[in-house]
Amino acid sequence: MTSFATRQLHAGARPDPATGARAVPIYQTTSFRFTDSAHAAAAFALEDLESHAYTRLSNPTSAVVEERIAALEGGTAAVALGSGQAATTLALFNLARAGDHVVAAASLYGGTHTLLSSTFADLGVGVTFVQDPDDLAAWRGAITPATRALFAESIGNPLGNVLDVAAVAEVAHQAGLPLVVDNTVPTPYLLRPIEHGADVVVHSTTKFLAGHGTAIGGVVVDSGRFDFGRHPDLWPGLTAPDPTYQGLSFWERFGPDGVAYALRLRTRLLRDLGPAASPFNSFLLLQGIETLDVRLARHVENAQAVAEFLEGHPAVEGVHYPGLPSSRWHPAAQRYLRAGAGAVVAFEIRGGREAGARFVDALRLFSHLANIGDVRSLAIHPASTTHAQLGPAEQRASGVTPGLVRLSVGIEGIADLIADLNHALEKS
Ligand SMILES: *Cc1c(COP(=O)(O)O)cnc(C)c1O
Repeated sequence: MTSFATRQLHAGARPDPATGARAVPIYQTTSFRFTDSAHAAAAFALEDLESHAYTRLSNPTSAVVEERIAALEGGTAAVALGSGQAATTLALFNLARAGDHVVAAASLYGGTHTLLSSTFADLGVGVTFVQDPDDLAAWRGAITPATRALFAESIGNPLGNVLDVAAVAEVAHQAGLPLVVDNTVPTPYLLRPIEHGADVVVHSTTKFLAGHGTAIGGVVVDSGRFDFGRHPDLWPGLTAPDPTYQGLSFWERFGPDGVAYALRLRTRLLRDLGPAASPFNSFLLLQGIETLDVRLARHVENAQAVAEFLEGHPAVEGVHYPGLPSSRWHPAAQRYLRAGAGAVVAFEIRGGREAGARFVDALRLFSHLANIGDVRSLAIHPASTTHAQLGPAEQRASGVTPGLVRLSVGIEGIADLIADLNHALEKS
């Protein structure tokens, strides 16, 4: 299955062997009956990786999601999780434990920034933030002997900063470390970080992948390419004997198949911490993925038109969208995002915080809410909502100013979207 359009529809799925059902059924069950005790023992010892035992660990509906997203990102395996936050947490905890350290771009989704700066610190994993992710010397300078991973978003939310994935991956690999990329905003339709050197990809599938604003979810994709055997002492969780699996080493047993990282994430972290995806949410996610390319094509076409309209409007001071030639990240977008620059458009409204509030209150078609990646158009004022937990300095580091408004441009008729924005800008 070489074409993206075919993979988004078929990867991981086959007609249901029990009933012939063509759409992927919702296997709404907690557990799966073993044929005999030898079968049960093999499943628990990780000798049988095909069978399902318990939905916290794996489920046939979620397994289709996993195989499909791995196929779209170009990874060897994926693990579906209950949310994007769970995906980032488990992706990094699979690499770093108490006493270890992570280097992360400062321009992050607000929830991720708080997770790394507060909860990771509480659990003993230190994080250094790189204020300018384009500054490769800053990435290099932040790496310490305790560093176990580099982390960044491929397109930053809300600024639209485009990561030079290949360059940051090279910095990571020169230091013998893996690069983990949050690819939520572009989705694999617009950008596949593994093709540019990323080792692990995480998603909030809540956004464009599911696309309809109906199901919270996350996924971690393993590229299968990072060599944990080069410095085995750095990754004891992967390379040393695991006492909970009779001394098995994930790296020795599953490294040759390129799935050691994903398998340890599932059978240690998901097993023990428990943020499993629900089969029903996995079903909803599949409905979204099956039309990903056609939806995204309309999203980016509308977003480009909205960005150009806003840039020409007198009530707007500036627009952040990498699809505009005025963006600092336009050259990076031309290199990495040839099919479109995503559908998150942020802009600076004239009149600051009060004008921003009047603007969101005057919108009729755009919904004022805290989400992105819905087929419906959305708007929010980050300084008072998604980024409100950050201090003023951290807000500025994330690119959030008092007058910043963030739009997630949906797939409605473009004339209606422009009319709504125009009306609300007049009221601002
Ligand atoms: C929403 C989002 C997350 C968090 O995902 P949830 O599904 O809400 O837990 C992480 N990263 C980015 C870029 C996001 O937009």
